[in-house]
Amino acid sequence: MGRVVTVQGALAPETLGFCHSHEHLWINPGRSAHVNPALRIDDEEKSLAELIDFRQAGGRAVVDAQPVGCGRNAPALGRLSARSGVHIVAATGFHKMCFYPKEHWVFSWDEAQLTALYAHELRFGMYADGDASPPALRCGHRAGVIKTALDTAWTAQTRKLFAAAGAAARETGAPLMVHVERGSDPEGLADFWEARGVDPARMIFCHMDRAVDDPAVHRRLCRRGAAMEYDTVARGKYHSDAREAEIVAGMTAAGFGGQILMGLDVTRARMVRYGGTVGLPYILKTFLPLLHRAGVPAETAARFFTENPARLLQTHTPGP
Ligand SMILES: [Zn+2]
Repeated sequence: MGRVVTVQGALAPETLGFCHSHEHLWINPGRSAHVNPALRIDDEEKSLAELIDFRQAGGRAVVDAQPVGCGRNAPALGRLSARSGVHIVAATGFHKMCFYPKEHWVFSWDEAQLTALYAHELRFGMYADGDASPPALRCGHRAGVIKTALDTAWTAQTRKLFAAAGAAARETGAPLMVHVERGSDPEGLADFWEARGVDPARMIFCHMDRAVDDPAVHRRLCRRGAAMEYDTVARGKYHSDAREAEIVAGMTAAGFGGQILMGLDVTRARMVRYGGTVGLPYILKTFLPLLHRAGVPAETAARFFTENPARLLQTHTPGP
C-alpha cells in the first residue's frame, strides 16, 4: 500500500481529505516574479490566512506545484502546513525553462545528478535553497510529487530533464505531474516516459483544460491510464466556469471520472489575502454547486477532490 508524502510526513491515503491538486502557496522573489509579478508569493501570514480560509470551507490538502530551484521554499511550506493544519504535498522536479537564468544549475547538471537530486528530495527531504546556487541546505520536509513542465520546444535540455524525472519516478514510486503548455505534445511525452518504463497511470497532465482543446487527446491519455488535472476555474481570460463544467461533465460521461483531479492554480493575483478576487475556498463555495447543476453528481465531483487524489498522489515505496 502506498503513502501520500506531505511536508509533515507520509500519510495513509484515506486520511488526506479534500485536496486541490495544483496550487502555489509560496514562490520566492526571483526570476519567476520577473517574468510575471503575480508569481511572487512571499508573505507567510497572507498565505497562512488563505490556507485557514480554505480549511474553514472544508479544504484539507493542497499540492504545491513549485519545484526545487524555481522559487520553492520548503521550510515555509513546512511551517504553513503545521500552522494551518492543511496537508501540503510539495514538489521536486523542474519548471519551464523561461523561469531559470541562463547560468542556473538546471542547465549545467547532467541527467544522473538531476535524478539523484529528485530522488533524494522524495526519499529523505527537500533542500531549503537552490534558486541562486545549487541546492546544498537540507531540510527534513520531503517532496511528494515530481513536477515537470512540457513546453512547445523539445530540446536536448528538456530531454535530459524529462529523462531524469522519469528515472526518479521509477526509482521512488512517486507520481509525475506535467505542466502542459498550449501547442506542446503530451502524448509524445507519455510515449517517451513509457519507453523508459514509467507506467502512464503515474502521470498527471496539468492544465489540459486550457492547453489542449481536442477532447480526443484527453480521452486517449486517460485510456492509457494517465490522469487529467483541470484548474481553469474562475479564469475568464481562458473560458467561463460553465465551459469548465462542460469539459469536466464530458470526461465524466465518457467514463473517466476516476482520473480527474482539480485545483485553482492560484497565484498572488488570485488569492484573496493578497488582494485578489478568487480565493482558495472558491471551488468549495462556488464551483462545486455549478458543477452539480451542469450534471455532474455530487458524489462524482467529490471523487475529483478526495478518492482520486488519495489514489493518484500515492508514492509506492516506503520512505525512511
Ligand atoms: Zn501552476
